[in-house]
Amino acid sequence: MSTLTISQASCADDYDPNSMPVAKARSFIHQFLDPVTAAVRVPVRSALGRVLAEDVVSPVDVPAHRNSAMDGWAVRAADLKPDAETVLAEIGSSFAGRPFGGSVGPGQCVRIMTGGVVPEGVDTVVMQERAKASGKSIAIASGPKAGQHVREAGEDLKRGSVALRRGRIVRPAELGLVASLGIGEVAVYRRLRVAFFSTGDELKSIGTPLGEGEIYDSNRYTIHGMLTRLGCEVLDLGVVRDDPKLLERAFREAAASADVVITSGGVSVGEADFVKDLLGRLGEVVFWKIAMKPGRPLAYGKIGGAHFFGLPGNPVSVMVTFYQFVRDALLALMGVDPVAAPPTFTARCTARLKKVPGRTEFQRGVLAREADGTLAVRPTGEQGSGILKSMSDANCFIILGDETGNVEPGTMVEVQLLEGLV
Ligand code: AMP
Ligand code: MG
Repeated sequence: MSTLTISQASCADDYDPNSMPVAKARSFIHQFLDPVTAAVRVPVRSALGRVLAEDVVSPVDVPAHRNSAMDGWAVRAADLKPDAETVLAEIGSSFAGRPFGGSVGPGQCVRIMTGGVVPEGVDTVVMQERAKASGKSIAIASGPKAGQHVREAGEDLKRGSVALRRGRIVRPAELGLVASLGIGEVAVYRRLRVAFFSTGDELKSIGTPLGEGEIYDSNRYTIHGMLTRLGCEVLDLGVVRDDPKLLERAFREAAASADVVITSGGVSVGEADFVKDLLGRLGEVVFWKIAMKPGRPLAYGKIGGAHFFGLPGNPVSVMVTFYQFVRDALLALMGVDPVAAPPTFTARCTARLKKVPGRTEFQRGVLAREADGTLAVRPTGEQGSGILKSMSDANCFIILGDETGNVEPGTMVEVQLLEGLV
């Protein structure tokens, strides 16, 4: 953890608040993130979506016994003739949960089912399609290799080895894996507490009629959704008017009660000044104009012990800046380690895209597989940063890097799926 303060870091000589590249802003933020450390023990099912606070060490070998991967017969490879059929005597059976107790001698075999314990003395399973039974006489076709279809004890996981590392998000697969080890409780980090509010004199909450020039506050809803899906504890502080006294009170309350404070609006040119003064008094905050579209203005800093993200007001900008900056930062603060960058891949763009070089654009796209089997992406249409429908219609971002100019139809572009971002 860096001991550098935000203002010291922001005075570094290559820092230009007016054209901060996306990657630089991201790595700037990351040097200040201090993950939660407090942990709680929860029953396995309740760990879904949470972050492991301790390694999960396997108390057993997985699989616990040498067992069969197939339905068939358990045999001794040494008995099998390499180029001809071999007839063996079936002396018993081993089904999953009902092992064959004895040991198997030369010329003998045991009927075995998938998951059945491989009895002592045998080393190979012949799948039933390669054998013919007539009574207890089993004719095995030539060809099986020694050791075939046998799963060794501890093959997946050795007793005492780490099954899951601290810092992992628990998904359905992890729930099952933990359960398969017979473990009933795991340690997870406490939830990250995030307070948020919207700023703007024009904003009304649902349930109040709109006056002239007023709009309903939608950012608190998208932010609520994104935070909830990430697994944060959310504290919705409502709409705060553009009034320095009310804003100061809201910032103080938010910072005192949460690990992270997120606001929307009030960081654009013209509005930034009094918020800047206010935040300068309450903490250490940097204001950036990020070289990106949408989402140019962005503020980041600390207010007391709380991390602060000041997002732009425009509804699409809120979502884009959340996904591109806040998401990763929150995951790191939640204790996720390592935080993997969301995957991107390339797809053929079917339309012409307008783009000026010098900034990264996150256009909203619809990705689909074409009849010829290739992936193609088209923009959702109007890309204005106030058009929330463009986010709703989209299933991906089309990411156009700093150097990219206009994109002609047929060009391969970078895409990032929205599903899975939170
Ligand atoms: P600002 O960043 O405060 O200048 O706001 C930019 C634009 O986003 C303006 O058109 C605002 O009316 C709009 N806006 C700001 N906050 C919200 C919000 N919470 N919900 C919907 N639109 C908003
Ligand atoms: Mg505003």
